[in-house]
Amino acid sequence: MPHRIVIIGTGLVGTSLAFALTIQGQASEIVLIDKDKDRAKGHAIDLNHGLPFAQPISIRAGDYSDCALADIIVIAAGVNQQPGETRLSLLQRNVDVFQEIITKTMQENFKGIFLIATNPVDILSYATYRLSGFPATRVIGSGTILDTARFRYLLGKNLDIDPRSIHAMIIGEHGDSEVPVFSTANVAGLPIKQFKDLLSEATLKTIVDDVRLAAYEIIKLKGATHFAIALGLSRIIESILKNQNSVLTVSTLLTDYAGISDVYLGIPAIVNRQGVVSIIDLPLDKEERQALINSANILKAQISSLHLDK
Ligand code: NAD
Repeated sequence: MPHRIVIIGTGLVGTSLAFALTIQGQASEIVLIDKDKDRAKGHAIDLNHGLPFAQPISIRAGDYSDCALADIIVIAAGVNQQPGETRLSLLQRNVDVFQEIITKTMQENFKGIFLIATNPVDILSYATYRLSGFPATRVIGSGTILDTARFRYLLGKNLDIDPRSIHAMIIGEHGDSEVPVFSTANVAGLPIKQFKDLLSEATLKTIVDDVRLAAYEIIKLKGATHFAIALGLSRIIESILKNQNSVLTVSTLLTDYAGISDVYLGIPAIVNRQGVVSIIDLPLDKEERQALINSANILKAQISSLHLDK
């Protein structure tokens, strides 16, 4: 069955995703849209030249009329902080960019699933949900999929175990208030906290700090993070298109989750062809639950200061 993915915003994140998709072959067609049309066109030509070594996929630069038949629209478009600009002003400018993008996609009668990557991802996913009028099932943010991957990688590195065999997650805001869930973290059913020889309290604290500060560190070293999130987005796309019912820590609308409502947050959710079909109710301990509520309150305070007009 043909699958069209439209990627809006062909910067580092958008193009790294396109590259991952050409190698992994989840989609049959990738359409690249950017306000800089030449950039999208140049990337499409470059990616096409790799196809003899990759999967049979059609890749081209396009425009909003291509959204009508898209299965998934990934939004990785964003504006950068100007010197002296506050985070809140940057946030409102990105909401304005989203307003323009969502309006154009809705004018084309898009009926698929929005997958949001632009930061702050939880707030912009919520904005997309509100601006599009779509049910929350069909508006998904990348959430803490990347933070969870970093957490599993670092735990695995310390334990010398394949990170794919580490069952641990980060929930809440994709940002400073994110929450590591130790109460359920395990390897082969054994709680992570039992691996005391390799994972002392001090080591666990270092791991949590490294996960939380990873983006700052990478941005300091090379200006942006994009490879790992591209693979995370590709994993979400795979679960959607192949109807896999995978549990992924995506950003989704919470409705009375630990008493939290009307905000998007990273939480383990079942993702399939319909989008986010259900959320896993975690048995959080008291501290984790309070930290999640704190994360929700931080995001809600920012949302309340935004203009979200359809
Ligand atoms: P970038 O600056 O390289 O690319 C942004 C692209 O968006 C540019 O090509 C720009 O021309 C385009 N753009 C801007 N306004 C547009 C509009 N109105 N319509 C169409 N295109 C438009 O940025 P990047 O490094 O690719 O990052 C993109 C976003 O992804 C940022 O917000 C970044 O913070 C975020 N990000 C998220 C995660 C995550 O875990 N969710 C991880 C890494 C980066």
